[in-house]
Amino acid sequence: MAFERINQKDWYKVLGAKPSDSPAELKRKYQKLALLPFFYVFFDWQYHPDKQEADVPAGEVEERVQRFIEIDQAWKILGNEETKKEYDLQQREDNLTKEWPLHAQIYLEDMSWNEDEQLYTLSCRCGGNYSIFKNETKDVSLVCCDTCSLVIEILQ
Ligand SMILES: [Zn+2]
Repeated sequence: MAFERINQKDWYKVLGAKPSDSPAELKRKYQKLALLPFFYVFFDWQYHPDKQEADVPAGEVEERVQRFIEIDQAWKILGNEETKKEYDLQQREDNLTKEWPLHAQIYLEDMSWNEDEQLYTLSCRCGGNYSIFKNETKDVSLVCCDTCSLVIEILQ
């Protein structure tokens, strides 16, 4: 699937949300934002552009429209299960690459395979574990230890 990288912005922050929020929570936060006055300003401006000037300075309208577009975009990404998953994975990889040192490169077949859980695991030298579900291996190449801050790169 051709998918544009959509992680230039922290879309969770735009919605005042956290990655751990449930879909219902995300929706509630989006809807709360959608009730803020700048939404009405935007719709007003869209349908009655001439009327707008009287109430709000042009610069401010632009700012609010920009904000509206951001919130709308954030919701388009986070409100959809598939794009949200894609975005989360990208964020995770970017954060790993930025913040954590790479410990080792490991071939997937060198990890322990757990058939019941469909999970690959590897012991970290700290005593913790690296683990990655089979269905994640297609999208994720960096995995962090569940205990320390080390990261491994999965080679396939
Ligand atoms: Zn570790």
